[in-house]
Amino acid sequence: MAPRSESVEDFRQRARTWLANCMPKAGTMPKREGIDPEEQNWLDARDLQKLLFSGGFAGICFPREYGGQGLTREYQVAFNEESAPYEMPVALNVPSLGICSAMLLDMGTEEQKQKYVRGAISGELVLCQFLSEPSGGSDLAGLLTRAQRDGDTYIINGQKCWSTYAFAADFATCLVRTDWDAPKHRGLSMIIVPVHDPATHMNRVQMV
Ligand SMILES: Cc1cc2nc3c(=O)[nH]c(=O)nc-3n(C[C@H](O)[C@H](O)[C@H](O)COP(=O)(O)OP(=O)(O)OC[C@H]3O[C@@H](n4cnc5c(N)ncnc54)[C@H](O)[C@@H]3O)c2cc1C
Repeated sequence: MAPRSESVEDFRQRARTWLANCMPKAGTMPKREGIDPEEQNWLDARDLQKLLFSGGFAGICFPREYGGQGLTREYQVAFNEESAPYEMPVALNVPSLGICSAMLLDMGTEEQKQKYVRGAISGELVLCQFLSEPSGGSDLAGLLTRAQRDGDTYIINGQKCWSTYAFAADFATCLVRTDWDAPKHRGLSMIIVPVHDPATHMNRVQMV
């Protein structure tokens, strides 16, 4: 972790040395035998994120209490410049870190931040978003997925689509309707759901 008083220039020098010693150069990730290239990319992204985390360079602008470095944008820019020649877990930037974790920082409970934001920064978890639905995505006030309270849990029924990287994610921030009596743009809740649950059926969109 960066010393609190470290200047951007000192941080840059430290990052340069660490990157040269610890990160693979772009295009030199070792191939994993018998694993398809897409799965390999995701395993690599998680491993690279874990490396960044162990080196104290993950979540540069995220708060320290959730696994980040608590630094300003200038430090992130310096790190981006220094890390350009190296393999980086860029697939985790959006939506896992840049959207889901950032949203949880603003809106999540302390427990959620400790589990999901820290999990994403440390490379243990990948997050995605379940917002859009087959009946329309832009007009989120029209969403139909419902969550019904059942004791301590919710039972969720509905369909989501265009969920970027859902196939590779562990958890999704899922927008659901919890109050059908409220006006359309109210009565909505965000529930964090496991993506690969036996009760969830996923179809990949095939690229043509
Ligand atoms: C690269 C990419 C990644 C994405 N990743 C995700 C993701 O991870 N998770 C996720 O949930 N979604 C994701 N989406 C979906 C995206 O956020 C939009 O919700 C979705 O593309 C819009 O839905 P739709 O295509 O069904 O269009 P529609 O919602 O049917 O909209 C079609 C047109 O109608 C207009 N329109 C819609 N409603 C109204 C209204 N009430 N009044 C007037 N005009 C209206 C829209 O502006 C648009 O021009 C992604 C989209 C893209 C392009």
